[in-house]
Amino acid sequence: MQVNTIGPLAEKIRTGNVANVVITTHHKPDGDAMGSTLGLYLFLKEYVANVQVITPTDYAGFLNWLPANDSVLIYEGNESKCNELVYEADFVFCLDFNRLSRVNELGDVIRDSKAEKVLIDHHLEPENFENFTYWDNHTSSTCELVFHFIKNHFGRDKITQEIATCLFCGMMTDTGNFQYNNTTAMTHRVAADLLECGADHVAIHEHIYDIFSTDRSRLFGYCLYEKLEIIPELRTALIYLNSEELNRFNVVTGDTEGIVNLGLGIKNIVFSVLIVDRTKLVKMSFRSKGNFATNEYAGKYFSGGGHKNASGGQSSDTLENTVLKFKDTIKLYERELNAI
Ligand code: 5GP
Ligand code: MN
Repeated sequence: MQVNTIGPLAEKIRTGNVANVVITTHHKPDGDAMGSTLGLYLFLKEYVANVQVITPTDYAGFLNWLPANDSVLIYEGNESKCNELVYEADFVFCLDFNRLSRVNELGDVIRDSKAEKVLIDHHLEPENFENFTYWDNHTSSTCELVFHFIKNHFGRDKITQEIATCLFCGMMTDTGNFQYNNTTAMTHRVAADLLECGADHVAIHEHIYDIFSTDRSRLFGYCLYEKLEIIPELRTALIYLNSEELNRFNVVTGDTEGIVNLGLGIKNIVFSVLIVDRTKLVKMSFRSKGNFATNEYAGKYFSGGGHKNASGGQSSDTLENTVLKFKDTIKLYERELNAI
């Protein structure tokens, strides 16, 4: 399903009638979040006098190489400057999320700001807080939507090599290297366009995936060798990590990304979960194959959401109790998981 009411705004931008813009994305932004915000930033700054990217939190070091990364302002630690920018903005672009709770405290600032809100996103169940919408839950990534936005309203020739690099990065990461079922013929067409615009797919792949620290490599090995639990009757794989283990492997932001996919690579497994004891809360990542809607499960039991086959959630209970709750609630889906 698609909602597209962004046309009149594109016209305002094209005719030079937009002066102050903030672009933001969800907390702990991933490749699609950073690729889409920085790609849009590089594009808009040719038309708009003041454009600022604000992320609610920091993000993985393997995204720091992206073009224009140095222009990003992180909300945590720069609250008053960011609040001022959001209050003074004419438009706040919200990319790769559709509920203001996904940007932590920055969400209230955005809600209160007089700025008009613009949503570009592909997640299910939007909150509808915005004035202009470009939303499509069947598109691979927010980066793919940013590509269509630029191409349809301004022309493909406006996509520079730097913009193409940002957008290709997010399409590649959100589709698991064009593997997941959100990958369509159009996704490949857009990827081909981005290569023609100068994106270097070999270099992008190396920047994202061939940069493991030794600690992170050993953490992945530890998860597989020592921590992986298989629940065969539920075709489910579970890995959970406590704070002592995070310290042992010197885990920094981004290091646990990808661990949840390890479980899904095992024959007959259709549901994989990673549960991590972050200091403030317990964070969960869910991945599935086929029809099992992880986002519905995440929403029902762990205040979360996302996509059908890839979602997340959280718990304010202890790690042990969260694991027990997971093991209890997942039993209710035995028939569904065995029907895949
Ligand atoms: P990840 O497991 O990589 O953190 O997240 C997978 C997907 O689920 C992403 O699209 C992300 O935006 C979404 N997601 C992760 N955690 C949450 C959450 O707590 N709430 C919601 N609504 N979505 C989430
Ligand atoms: Mn995304």
